[in-house]
Amino acid sequence: MIGVPTYEFRCASPVCNARATALTKDEVIAQLTTHVKVEHRIPSPTRPIMQFLVDNTIRELPQQKGRS
Ligand SMILES: [Zn+2]
Repeated sequence: MIGVPTYEFRCASPVCNARATALTKDEVIAQLTTHVKVEHRIPSPTRPIMQFLVDNTIRELPQQKGRS
């Protein structure tokens, strides 16, 4: 469905309640990456860190039907 956010990122840090949504997984990962770099001061997160974060902070939102 066009225009409805499909992926959600919720920061896993207990002291941070950042949240973002995006239409594609790539987009939400980009937001997550920026968030980690800027808010958590990890200028170059390693691949395992990113994989962990992707697995633990991103989820696919259930599609809402018939919202017209
Ligand atoms: Zn955070």
